[in-house]
Parts: sequence; structure tokens; C-alpha cells
Amino acid sequence: MVRFRCLILIAVVAALGGCKPAPKAASGTSPGETESERPEAISVIKSGGAPAKRPTVPPPAEIWKEFSGDKAFEEVRRQVEIGPRPSGTPELEKARVLIEESLRRSGWEVERQVFTTETPRGPVEFINVIGRFSATGAHPASRKTQRALVCSHYDTKRFSTIKFVGASDGASSTGALLELARVLALDPAMAAQVELVFFDGEEAFVQFTAPDDPKPDGLFGSRYYARSLTADGRAAQFKFGILWDMIGDRDLTITLPPDSPPELSRGVLSSAEALGLRQNFGFFARTILDDHEELRRAHIPAIDLIDFDYVYWHTAGDTLEHIAPESLQKVGAVTLHYLRQALAK
Ligand SMILES: [Zn+2]
Repeated sequence: MVRFRCLILIAVVAALGGCKPAPKAASGTSPGETESERPEAISVIKSGGAPAKRPTVPPPAEIWKEFSGDKAFEEVRRQVEIGPRPSGTPELEKARVLIEESLRRSGWEVERQVFTTETPRGPVEFINVIGRFSATGAHPASRKTQRALVCSHYDTKRFSTIKFVGASDGASSTGALLELARVLALDPAMAAQVELVFFDGEEAFVQFTAPDDPKPDGLFGSRYYARSLTADGRAAQFKFGILWDMIGDRDLTITLPPDSPPELSRGVLSSAEALGLRQNFGFFARTILDDHEELRRAHIPAIDLIDFDYVYWHTAGDTLEHIAPESLQKVGAVTLHYLRQALAK
């Protein structure tokens, strides 16, 4: 089966120069980390202090009810209002600052993971933003308490012919993840078990390549992050990862990749069922190449909650009017419901 992200909107894809199907690659195989395959260049870690802000009230029993689609939408709006936000631009730095400020307001500690790597457009500096939470307010937060990853990319695809602001493709999942951070902070013990990651460089400069391509294009941030987890000996502490991408469509249909880890799909679908949202979740016809693939290559079971049935994908029409707070709320609530069950085990 073809592994390829650009599976729909063939006419649009053709107009943009086409995309080639990526070759088959076995999921969960080792990245075969040799030094030559590691991302080039240097990693600089900058930690940001987070004010201790711990609730004194007991955590909400039904924490998924705290997720506000409207608050998430406001975060999305702030991202979109910056305009196009491709990797390596000052606009993406503005987006990053908003992410960091929002995380800190919710009591999360922020780390920038900075690296430079070769792309089809030459070397580019990328910056992943990582959020961690200390249940006790200790600083720095421990790196050993996290058992789940929840991730989104926050860059937008670069276009020279259209103004592309990525309301769903980039901003929706990013804004919702900031609202998730606010809600998780209501339950410090739970928040300390979650690592939030905002990936840079998900979008390809030219076209996506297979994950094991010696000259990869796309998934730059997740590839570097996943390999860092392995190199730091932290990959094994994560039971699972959840990736959000393009979750804003007004007509929400989450299209899970059919090769999603069965335990994760079952858990997410059963949470959707429990919240009366099962009709918004289904399976895509083909596999989807996205940031979750890099987590899986680090042997972390990972699922992609993505609505790939979105007609405005990679068009100038991917704007705020085509996404809805209700869609963000549905994905946020289902994810929180699932996290509560999975992390209680
Ligand atoms: Zn995209």
C-alpha cells in the first residue's frame, strides 16, 4: 500500500508540482541510528522557568468536560493572525513565543529543542517546543514522570503562489494543545505524566520522503525529537503517543490511519463512544505519513488523530471560517477521556 500523506485532492497536488508516493516502510522498525543518519548539527537546549501555579482544589472527576472549544479557538486565532508561519521565518518565532507564553500561564515548564539540519532548500534551523509539568511545582520539572506524549506541528507549509495561514493544518492542533495544557494543569498528577510537544518542520519543503530516506524532506522536528528520546534513554518511558493534526474541520471526521496500534485505536474509539462522539471517528482508506511515524520508529506506539477529509487542505481556503470550536472541543474531550483511562492503569 502506498504510504503517502498527499492522498487526496489530487488535482491540487498536481497543481503544486505533484507528490510521489513514498516507498513502503515497515512501521516500528528501528531507525538504525548511525551517526551519519542523525540530524546534522547541534542541539541547544534552553529551559524556561514556569511559575509554580498549582490548584488547591481537587482535580475534576470528569476532566474532559473542562476542555473549552472556544478557548482553544482563541489560541488558534492568535496563531492564524500571525499569517503564514513556515519553518525558519520570524513569523514562526512569533508563533513560538505565543505557545511558550500560553504554556507558562498554565504552569508548564518550557524547553526549546533547537537544531539545524539539511533540507532541499539548504540548512535550516528548527525549534521544537516541549512542555513538562511538575506535580509539586519543583523546577526544573522531572523528565522521568512522563508516560504519554501529546503532539502537534505548529509550522505551516510554505507557498509562493498563495497566502496559506493553515487554520486547520498547523494552527488547529496547536491551539487545542494549548487548551489541553490549561485543562491538564487542573490535575497536576496527571499533567506530570504527559509531555506536550510542538513540532517544527512537519511540512515538506518540496515533497515528503520515506522515513528512512537518506535525504529526508518533511517531519524534521519529530524525527529529531524521537531520535533524541532514544539517545537520552527516555523513549522506553512512554507508553504511547497521540498526534493531533488538522482537527479543526467544521465537519469533523477523524480519519485514523488503518495501521494505528490496535490498543490505541480501541481506546480512543471507546472514549469517543463514551462521550457520544463515535460518529466523528473512523478510519482512513490508506496509511498516512505524519509525525506519529517518527515516534513509532522510536518504538513508541503512536496514533494520528487527523481529519484528512478536509477540502481546504493546502489551499488558500484553510482559514478560520472553515474550522469550528466544536471540532476542537470534540477532539480535546476524547483525548482527555482516553488519557484519564490510560494513565490510571
Ligand atoms: Zn500540511
